[in-house]
Amino acid sequence: MYKLGLIGFPLTHSKSPLLFKIFFEIAGISGEYRLFEIPSRRLFYWTASEVFASGFSGINVTVPYKPDAFYFAEKKSDIALRTQSVNLLYFKDSLIIGENTDYFGFSESLKTLDSLKITKKAAVIGAGGSARTILAALIDFGFEKIYITARSIKKAHLLASQYANHSSSEMIVIDPDDKINSELDIVINCTPAGMFPDVDQLPQGFQLLNFVRKGGAAYDLIYNPQKTKFLKEAEKRSLRIKNGWEMLVLQALKTFEIITDIKLDIKIVLRELENN
Ligand code: NDP
Repeated sequence: MYKLGLIGFPLTHSKSPLLFKIFFEIAGISGEYRLFEIPSRRLFYWTASEVFASGFSGINVTVPYKPDAFYFAEKKSDIALRTQSVNLLYFKDSLIIGENTDYFGFSESLKTLDSLKITKKAAVIGAGGSARTILAALIDFGFEKIYITARSIKKAHLLASQYANHSSSEMIVIDPDDKINSELDIVINCTPAGMFPDVDQLPQGFQLLNFVRKGGAAYDLIYNPQKTKFLKEAEKRSLRIKNGWEMLVLQALKTFEIITDIKLDIKIVLRELENN
């Protein structure tokens, strides 16, 4: 019996218990997935320790505790170190390992967008935790020029500087209202602007959609609602769109694979999810 869970706050709308219930069913193994909705950082360290002491194999971590999970991990994977982000803690060889499965989720999801790399230019809106992971994935995907914009331009510069010396991609920080003289393959919204219940919001910098080439794409990490205002704006410009649902499922599948050594087929999983 596998014991897994999620630490974060708030967790009221978490889809993870449903995802893992389906993973366990498809794999034909027994397991439980518990939510630990905790209101303070001090309780994060206590809860994480207790969880491992009581026989949990692993625990996912979401906002606002990903930075704490990074420090809690006794050893980090290469990608967790590179992105400075941990969303999975698991026990292996007597050590608590920190992993970033969001990186795998986004990278795999990007591969499903055919013919994406034409101009090899991408743009990221937002400079928070997820943007750090998305940047690493875009660099590894082979984008040569990556524009970064955020309402706090200082944070965008900080983010760019973290990768500038360790990447073959060029990072260019721009103001949200700036025009660019390049055609982009894709723009990714890494902000919560437009997420339920604030569905009428657009992220500052959404105008970057105007610079996406014909046949290019818009990606929103948000999955509730399924079609954000940002994605509706992209559709108005005839762009291909993708929301954060597939990424969410794929990062959870990566967690499942790390813990159980079982790799499930995303197509089967998505079909099962549709029936639930
Ligand atoms: P953070 O809080 O770490 O960062 C959010 C960033 O968005 C900050 O740079 C913030 O700016 C900026 N921001 C907030 N509102 C606006 C706005 N109206 N216009 C422009 N910028 C804005 O959050 P995360 O990076 O962790 O998450 C971002 C989104 O991605 C969330 O909606 C989250 O649910 C989603 N997500 C989805 C995943 C998936 O699997 N699909 C995985 C991870 C995240 P400032 O610093 O100035 O406040």
